Amino acid sequence: MSFIDLPKAFESRMKEYLGKVEYERFNSALGEDPLTSIRLNPFKKTPPFHLNKRVPWSETGFYLTERPSFTLDPLFHAGTYYVQEASSMFLEHILHHIQAPRDGVFLDMAAAPGGKSTLIGSYLGQKGFLVANEVIKARASVLKENIIKWGLGNTMVTQNDPEHFSKLEGFFDLVLVDAPCSGEGMFRKDKEARSEWSNDHVALCAHRQERIMDKAGTLVKGGGYLIYSTCTFNEQENEEILRFICSEFSYEPVQIPLESSWGIVESALELENKTYFGYRFYPHKVFGEGFFVTVLKRSEDAYSQAPQRTKDFKHPFIKLEGKLVKENMIKALELPQSSSFYTLNGSCFWLNSNFQSHFEYLSRFLNIKYFGVELGKFYKTQFIPTHEWALSIFPKTGFFYFELEEKDAIDFLRKQDISLEGIPEGWILLTYQQNPLGWIKNLGNRTNNYYPKEWRIRMK
Ligand code: SAM
Repeated sequence: MSFIDLPKAFESRMKEYLGKVEYERFNSALGEDPLTSIRLNPFKKTPPFHLNKRVPWSETGFYLTERPSFTLDPLFHAGTYYVQEASSMFLEHILHHIQAPRDGVFLDMAAAPGGKSTLIGSYLGQKGFLVANEVIKARASVLKENIIKWGLGNTMVTQNDPEHFSKLEGFFDLVLVDAPCSGEGMFRKDKEARSEWSNDHVALCAHRQERIMDKAGTLVKGGGYLIYSTCTFNEQENEEILRFICSEFSYEPVQIPLESSWGIVESALELENKTYFGYRFYPHKVFGEGFFVTVLKRSEDAYSQAPQRTKDFKHPFIKLEGKLVKENMIKALELPQSSSFYTLNGSCFWLNSNFQSHFEYLSRFLNIKYFGVELGKFYKTQFIPTHEWALSIFPKTGFFYFELEEKDAIDFLRKQDISLEGIPEGWILLTYQQNPLGWIKNLGNRTNNYYPKEWRIRMK
């Protein structure tokens, strides 16, 4: 067994938790290569990986035997899968077990880069609505990109501090806080996390987590669920935060069934004659990285609020389109009857009309980065389709589809010119293994590549 150097204070605490012998197994596991796993997009066409080892707590999660270059895989850019660490996929098992309402309104409070938001998006499918929020601007842009690639149209991306949610008490059926933490569970993957770790940093993270949960705890409606997770092992950032939530709000414990072969460790916290459960993922026991999660159910009699619909939607930048546009768009683009359309910066956005009042109410308080599906811009007599629409799961009827070979697909994703034989003039939807990658426009003497500049592959 080889041992890796870890911060001394961390080492002595883990020895205390695990005992000396188990600690050695834990340390040795941290020295091994991290596992690679992906989660498939159930609404897109499956990539041809050799997917034979499923993540046991996820229906769509798979381990890969080696780590390919995802950047050079067109299907990664088409949003057919998300590269996600296996322990995090346990959220799928939780959602199924608690039977979280698929037609509900969910909030992912700390969502970037989007691993858990895309998982929730897949769970909600076409029925529900997700607010994926990230406070840090640059990270919110990455979140937006990943939500667009996932392409389900059921998500609104916002960039707000938890404080900005004050008016939304009792609004959500489910709130997930995958909190910023000291990252002990990432020590195998991320050497920087080891060097940044200190007891002071743990205390600072715990303080921040309390501040976030003090707000997040209010946002769940009566009978709804609060899920709190970290990628760290210590009790200060886990059980102590659970204790804090229960001291501030009325939440019932939820126990999640486990199979012993999974290696997940259940912890129990006794509070006022109730047992609250936490689930720890140790890298020497599970096929995944370090993780902690706890699930709580808000008392049925807690305050709940439905969105207050105003007769005229007023927003400084977003305009609701009327009946005529709605009827024309539904017909022209073969969109569902439950469609609402908005205009922002001259571009037309689709939203599931079942969540129109939720969206309009939320837009009063939140800084919106993206929502639904951006379809395109009207320019003179033309409709200019967006990349967002290309990557969405909505039909793109009436356009010429062109299936690319791998090399051309990579060139397209590098935003290079590609020459294609036998294509008509106009907009062409390029696909790779039948998954849309984006648009080119054939002008006869040349073609324009409409892949977003900021997304292009830069790797050689
Ligand atoms: N849920 C994400 C996923 O599965 O891809 C990972 C979230 S990461 C563990 C925590 C996130 O919280 C980071 O993106 C970080 O920027 C954000 N964050 C940092 N400070 C925060 C704060 N004060 N309130 C809310 N979120 C914060």
